[in-house]
Amino acid sequence: MPLRWEDAAVRALAAKLSGYPEELPPLIHASRRIGSDPGLVLHGGGNTSAKVVETDIFGDAERRLYVKGSGVDMASIGVEGFSVLRLDPIRRLRDIADPPEADLQNHLAVHRAAAGSPDPSMETLLHAFLPHRFVFHCHADALLVLTHQSNPRALIRSVLGEKAAVIPYARPGLSLARAAVEAYEKSPHIDAMVVLHHGLFTFAEDAKEAYNRMQALVKKAASYIRKGLKASGRVAVSLKGASPASRARDAARVSQVIRGTVARKDRNGGIQRRLVVLRESPELIRASLCPEAGKICRSGVLTPDHAIRTRNRMVHLDTVPKADTALKDAVERAVSRFEKDYAGYLTGQKRSPERDVRPGETWPCLFLVAGFGLFAAGETLQAAHTAADIGAHTVSAKWKAFSLGTYRPIPEAHVRDMEVWPLQRKKLKRPEAPLSGQVALVTGGGGAIGHGIARCLLAAGATVMLTDVDARRLEKSVDLLSRRFGGDRIASTAFDVTDAKAVEKGFETTSLRFGGVDLVVPNAGIAHVAKIEDLDPETLDRVTAVNFKGTFTTLKAAVPVFKRQGTGGNIVVISSKNVFDPGAAFSAYSASKAAAHQMAKIAAIELAPLGVRVNMINPDAVFGDENVCSGLWECIGPERMRCRGLSPEGLQDYYCQRSLLKARVTAEHVGHAVVFFAAGKTPTTGASLPVDAGIPAAFPR
Ligand SMILES: [Zn+2]
Repeated sequence: MPLRWEDAAVRALAAKLSGYPEELPPLIHASRRIGSDPGLVLHGGGNTSAKVVETDIFGDAERRLYVKGSGVDMASIGVEGFSVLRLDPIRRLRDIADPPEADLQNHLAVHRAAAGSPDPSMETLLHAFLPHRFVFHCHADALLVLTHQSNPRALIRSVLGEKAAVIPYARPGLSLARAAVEAYEKSPHIDAMVVLHHGLFTFAEDAKEAYNRMQALVKKAASYIRKGLKASGRVAVSLKGASPASRARDAARVSQVIRGTVARKDRNGGIQRRLVVLRESPELIRASLCPEAGKICRSGVLTPDHAIRTRNRMVHLDTVPKADTALKDAVERAVSRFEKDYAGYLTGQKRSPERDVRPGETWPCLFLVAGFGLFAAGETLQAAHTAADIGAHTVSAKWKAFSLGTYRPIPEAHVRDMEVWPLQRKKLKRPEAPLSGQVALVTGGGGAIGHGIARCLLAAGATVMLTDVDARRLEKSVDLLSRRFGGDRIASTAFDVTDAKAVEKGFETTSLRFGGVDLVVPNAGIAHVAKIEDLDPETLDRVTAVNFKGTFTTLKAAVPVFKRQGTGGNIVVISSKNVFDPGAAFSAYSASKAAAHQMAKIAAIELAPLGVRVNMINPDAVFGDENVCSGLWECIGPERMRCRGLSPEGLQDYYCQRSLLKARVTAEHVGHAVVFFAAGKTPTTGASLPVDAGIPAAFPR
């Protein structure tokens, strides 16, 4: 549903923006409305402007342009999201021969009226040259379906009417801005402009009028498409067939294989991993199975602005083999074909120093997979979601275009030109955190150590799936982490590590959410205090089931994921100081931890050929804090003290004093050790790292 203009919202903004020109509140309102409608713009696309008069420091009136900052997301824009420019010096650019790109950018930089305002949108010159007070621009899907039909000019005129001019595609900049203002001067009755293969501009003296006009024109285009689709007789493909459980299992396998196939070695010999997300709406699944699915993947972006987020093509997989080796073969073949073609496409340009492409940027971001939907890969989770959103709109718009008649792609040279333009590439943010791109699965995430590990992993840039058998404790832990790090890189799924099927399902859920797993931290554990003569066999079974079998089920479930990804990884088993230095009345815990420790060493031997390192951390006496308590210590702490003939109140002090360093060991200390192993800076596997403030009897040997 299109968002309606609300005068009350404009008044509310005006009350907050006293001292700013009167054009600002309606400009911000319109921008937020346009930015919040994914049918109009996606992820920072589109732009808006207002021409105002303000006084400078000398009290002289100056004409200024408030134009959306480059890459700023309009959905949440405020005054600080606009670049403020002196209008007259910018408009003079219309009358000179094309200056070099650097000179043009310099001109825009030095004529900033607000020094701290962001870089202006790439379409700034068009906004500046048109005389109207308000100019709004979007990349509406419905419009783009029309501009990609054959003979789009006549079609657009017949659908939108005579007051919408149609101008040919040109890269945003001087030539597009000149073409736009010339079209307006030639036909001053027009109140909107469609740039072929790009989008829609509306303009007026009044913001509400320009906004409502944008909505009305998009509505006309959408209703034309709706009627056409109805007439085409295309019906939705039935999604019956595979059961939801087997579809989910296969979708997780596809994600893992795609993720592994698009990972690349980085300059330091490490691996640059991607996150992979899935969009599986019925519409996308229908498009993935339609006769034009291959053409949809080959025919490029809807508008060149999208290419830096999605590339100009997608991979099409028409079947998903049941066997992993066949699936890997199919994906690898498709990716290698894609990369070869894409390298050819990128180098088809004229070489120039300012148009250089980063090597390795030929890996595909989007995969349309028959019967499953659209998988999207990105260097960050945000980048993967952006590619997925844009890709989903692209597939849907093309399916409509094919259903109406045809889809005529944008000439590749136009897209390439935009895709490699340094100004456009500046919008891309490169991840720099040491674990960015890595997905971690941590068990026992509701307790103090699991929480501390997750906190350190998130701080180091990883994406984390936190798990625990206790859904309530897990939720509290994740809630605290989301508040600190934002919610997108942390998710949770509750399962019992003693149930092998549930653990497998946990890895599947993680893969469907993030693409796969690179770091596995078997951390779930329970303890019991009793001398052997008092230990009943059922209790021993219970402790062993969590501490030993739970480590085994987690290790086992990780192996097929690592195999499908083929990019190595890390397992860090949270062992215990007690494995080296056991104490009386603690046999169930110490023996089950020792078994898990031994199994981890064997995993190190078995998984080395996959490039997976397995290491152990041996902490001692990690107590919780006021936010997340240690369930284990709450349960056994007082008993352990009584066993030593000491009072339970002195628990933390006792453990602190018995170490060489007399230091308190925290959950974050354990987390830092996990980050060390996950960063893969040393070729270490099968090692034990004590995090115990120094206990000579527990020195590994
Ligand atoms: Zn645009």
